[in-house]
Amino acid sequence: MTLRRKTILITTITLIGLILLLYLTLRVLILQSYIGLEQQTMLRNLNRAGNSLQDAIERLQWAISDWAAWDDTYAFVQGDSAEYIEANLMDDTFWALKVNLMMFVNAASEVVYAKMVDVDDAEQTRLLAAFEETARDDKRFLNLTTGTPIAGFMVVGGEPMIVVSHPIMRSDESGPQAGTLIWARHLNQQELAAISTSLRLSIALFDTAYSDLPTDVTLAQQSLSSASPQIVNIMDDNTVGGYALLTDIYDNPALILRASQGREIYWQGQAALTYFLIALVVIGIVFGVGTLLLVDWLVLRRLTRLNDHVRQIGINDDFSMRLLVEGRDELAQLGIAINAVLGAVAHSRAALQELNVELEQRVAARTTQLEHQKSQLQTIMDAMGEGLVYCVDGRIQYVNDAFIDMLDYPVRDLVGMSFGALTTHPHQMGPARRYETALVRQDGTTVSVAVTSMPVDVFDDHERCVIIVRDITQELKAKAQKEYFYARASHDLRSPLTSIMTRLYLLEKKPEQLETHLKILNRTSDRMLQLVNDLLDVSRANQNALVLKRRDLVLQTIIDEVVEIQQADAEQRNTCLMLEQDETPLHVNVDPLRINQVITNLVSNAIQYTPEGGTIIVRLETGEDNGTKHAIVRVSDSGIGISRENIDHIFEPFFRVDGNQENGSGLGLYIVNEIVQLHAGKISVESEVGKGTTFSVYLALNDACPDDTDDTAKASSASSTHSPENVADKSPVQ
Ligand code: ADP
Repeated sequence: MTLRRKTILITTITLIGLILLLYLTLRVLILQSYIGLEQQTMLRNLNRAGNSLQDAIERLQWAISDWAAWDDTYAFVQGDSAEYIEANLMDDTFWALKVNLMMFVNAASEVVYAKMVDVDDAEQTRLLAAFEETARDDKRFLNLTTGTPIAGFMVVGGEPMIVVSHPIMRSDESGPQAGTLIWARHLNQQELAAISTSLRLSIALFDTAYSDLPTDVTLAQQSLSSASPQIVNIMDDNTVGGYALLTDIYDNPALILRASQGREIYWQGQAALTYFLIALVVIGIVFGVGTLLLVDWLVLRRLTRLNDHVRQIGINDDFSMRLLVEGRDELAQLGIAINAVLGAVAHSRAALQELNVELEQRVAARTTQLEHQKSQLQTIMDAMGEGLVYCVDGRIQYVNDAFIDMLDYPVRDLVGMSFGALTTHPHQMGPARRYETALVRQDGTTVSVAVTSMPVDVFDDHERCVIIVRDITQELKAKAQKEYFYARASHDLRSPLTSIMTRLYLLEKKPEQLETHLKILNRTSDRMLQLVNDLLDVSRANQNALVLKRRDLVLQTIIDEVVEIQQADAEQRNTCLMLEQDETPLHVNVDPLRINQVITNLVSNAIQYTPEGGTIIVRLETGEDNGTKHAIVRVSDSGIGISRENIDHIFEPFFRVDGNQENGSGLGLYIVNEIVQLHAGKISVESEVGKGTTFSVYLALNDACPDDTDDTAKASSASSTHSPENVADKSPVQ
């Protein structure tokens, strides 16, 4: 809510409150005083009415004293003057004296004469009879006991009357008392109306003994007493009544005089109050509006201006702006204070901006540094051969590329997964530990791994750890191979040794077969030597200790030599060994003994696995491999061939196709492959079971090498044959 609205609201509420308070207070005060005034007036009028009735009593007293102390009356009551009635007691006398009843009672309490005049004849007779009955035996009323006159009110026959009685004496007031003269004046409606008119006041008389009094009179009667003979009651909105208790001649409560009048005074008060309220409202509005205008002009507008200026400064974000200061009051002081604050803010803002720029620069530098470190770390982690996993409370938060490759899971599936769910053995958080387990890939296959788990201390409620996972499939395989290798090596070495020992035993037993024994011993020791050489080569290859003694040479020289040596063996087995090669010398930079070993092995295998009548062709070609010119030595046979499932394993150590275990150790092709690879060459094999096999050895040609005519092999014919006697020269690779 704006200040202006608040001011209007407060002023309005204050004004309304003030007006209401003033109105209510004054209403009580003014109306009370008007009601008091009304009551005073009413009491005064009630007294006037009472006085009027009292006057009537006194007037009757005065008149009756004249009549009662008169010789004519004295004589009349004693029965002496008959003319008295005609001369004095005419109706007009009654009207003139304003008397309705005259009764002459003699000393013997006998009514000598009684006459009543009234407006209503029937009422006149009834009242006269009732009066006679009341007065006859009342000695006090007849002044017989006291001898003094009596005057006052009396209810006779249910009608209010003013009654006076006086002892009848002589004109000089001498006695003895001849009787009593009683007068009565009937206070009927006409009489009361006349009094009301004369008093300009509505009056009425009620008999207290009458049971069916008006409600207001009954109410007043309850409050009236000899101690409180007058009261004023509100009869209705427009009438106020004054009530006075009138006693009869015996001092008993007999009549209630009610004087009523309009409530002009009260309504006057009400009208005054209304005018006052209107005046109050008008003054209040004028005062309120005036106050608001003044406050608005002197305070609110200036405050609004101040507020607009401050807001403008906020919108423009320009703390160099200043407020316009007018006057010397508190608002002006506020403006000065705000200007001072603006100055201070502008100053600290400039300082803050400087600091901000410096901080931003430092943050940028630090961010770059951190990003650099992060990228370095990321590169290191991604380059790691081992899988790296970061877990919080056992849930994976980060994995590196190696781990993803290991498991073949999408990263989004791995993050959030429990690490324990990936392992075949349950993974436990806690202190650093190392164990071997297997991880389950997405396709359900497993990979054997070594797990190293290290807790990360961050000192919060979470358990964090870094897990390094190493694929140990190859290690396990190598271990198994090694064990297999040792088992096979010892087994293969034991066979020829057993054979030698048997032959030595036979030599002792059958010395006459010496030649046979020596021949077999020689062959067996050759085989053993071959096996030991192979084992040595395998061992060197495994330890990367196969050292090549390379030199530039013409490849044909080696091939010629091998074919020549193997020719005898081929002939012995009734196979045909042929050599096909160009005369153009092919220069290579190789270890001649090792390449010789390679080709010898391939040719000897071909002879061995080719049945009688078969053909073995050694072919030397040139060709391109990976954009480099190569010499290709192909050894083809028409032998038993190698099945598809075995062909993938033939370069593994000790691998031999089932049923072909006669002579070989299964190490030859493994060593061949190692030697070719050491020469940065390659070996391939094509085979079809029952049709034959072709091994191809690729060796890089040494183009730069000048033609070495000395080393140039003698170009062989397309199908040269070699003598079988050279077979014995086959010597193992050293
Ligand atoms: P071995 O000394 O037993 O011949 P190798 O390593 O030289 O061992 O050969 C491994 C196996 O490959 C042999 O046992 C044989 O079954 C198979 N093999 C090698 N060469 C041929 C070939 N030319 N024809 C058919 N099988 C062959």
